[in-house]
Amino acid sequence: MERTLTILKPDCVRKQLIGAVIDQIERAGFRVVAMKKIRLTQETAGEFYAVHRERPFYGELVEFMSSGPCVPIILEKENAVADFRTLIGATDPAQADAGTVRKLYADSKGENIVHGSDSEENAAIEAGFFFSAEEVVRSN
Ligand code: ADP
Repeated sequence: MERTLTILKPDCVRKQLIGAVIDQIERAGFRVVAMKKIRLTQETAGEFYAVHRERPFYGELVEFMSSGPCVPIILEKENAVADFRTLIGATDPAQADAGTVRKLYADSKGENIVHGSDSEENAAIEAGFFFSAEEVVRSN
């Protein structure tokens, strides 16, 4: 069973879409292994997205991700990393397939509702960023 890390971003929380998005995620066969609501500081948001430090949108991304609470979640499913990225759609909602989370709910390339890990290795690193071992509980 594979794991991935998602974050319901501050725009998702502001729009009161936590339930709708988790419903879509569960209906797609993912199980919630760990979940919390937190507010990132500019420092922790910057650390999470450090890989994008040199990109022109980095400042905007850090500002947005620390603008309000978010909901990081560890999810479990066979082929979780790839299947989750299919479920959420392209980074830019304008390019996302119909029915994907970002197509349904996102406003822009920056404010795009959800994060999804891009590899199993990064999923494990990102899970460790948000959760301690005691907070990670097998779903069933
Ligand atoms: P993804 O989240 O789809 O894996 P990336 O890893 O390329 O996308 O980018 C990380 C996040 O940075 C995106 O989800 C989005 O919030 C933001 N971002 C990416 N590209 C842009 C852009 N051109 N302008 C503003 N924000 C962006």
